[in-house]
Amino acid sequence: MLKPIHRLLSQTGSLCLACGSKISAQIPGYPELCLSCYSSIPWIMQPRCLVCGRHVGCPDCSRTGGTPRCFVINRSSVAYNASMRQWLAQYKYRGHEAYGEVLARMMGRAVEQMKNELGLQKTFFDAVTFVPLSEARWVERGFNQAEKLARGAALARGRNGRSLPLLNLLTRTRHTDKQSFKSRHERLKNMQGVFQALPDASERLAAVAVRSDGTFSEHGEAIRLLLVDDVYTTGSTINACAAVLQNICTELGASGEIYSLTWARS
Ligand SMILES: [Zn+2]
Ligand SMILES: [Zn+2]
Repeated sequence: MLKPIHRLLSQTGSLCLACGSKISAQIPGYPELCLSCYSSIPWIMQPRCLVCGRHVGCPDCSRTGGTPRCFVINRSSVAYNASMRQWLAQYKYRGHEAYGEVLARMMGRAVEQMKNELGLQKTFFDAVTFVPLSEARWVERGFNQAEKLARGAALARGRNGRSLPLLNLLTRTRHTDKQSFKSRHERLKNMQGVFQALPDASERLAAVAVRSDGTFSEHGEAIRLLLVDDVYTTGSTINACAAVLQNICTELGASGEIYSLTWARS
């Protein structure tokens, strides 16, 4: 009985989320994209800079005498080109939820790739967390795109095949202006005190990373966290958040290993 209807539906076909053209062949895992749009995704398969995950040469990370880096490495799913900028804007500023779903799914792939690269098959992240929005931005937007992406990353299988714990650990005291046009010194000054730990952050983290006998999961004396944001530009936001996360770990008597994962690398 259902067969003719089914045939009719597949003949009608759905339209590509990004370009609006008819989808003739479905891409596994990305049914809302046409082959051409999917093929144009600039995945970063092999980063040129092994510190910040940039796909092109990177002067920032090789500079000596800069600020201490509070995260181990950053990796990003895609290069931030014009079409990726558009996809993110559709979700972030227009609230187009279907894009949010696609972007979040792309994070799952990035986590797997990061895990393989680092040889983290056995030992994995204790929890996933994300860069918070300021309250004003939250009120304006109604959602935090970084949280959505973190949720996608957390779905990558953790220990025992379960998804990773997703923890809200940070708060943002104020919104900062676009950082990319500022000098390195100005950026750092601008970030001071912007991020803080939520009052119950250490309890929340302890609940997933500290065992009943007081030892820390599988990473010896370290708690390993995955910090998620939408775009890595200068790294100053990630670094400021990582510093606060390190402090939370220290409070628990552990050292913090903060890994950063962003959806895009500019
Ligand atoms: Zn398309
Ligand atoms: Zn770099």
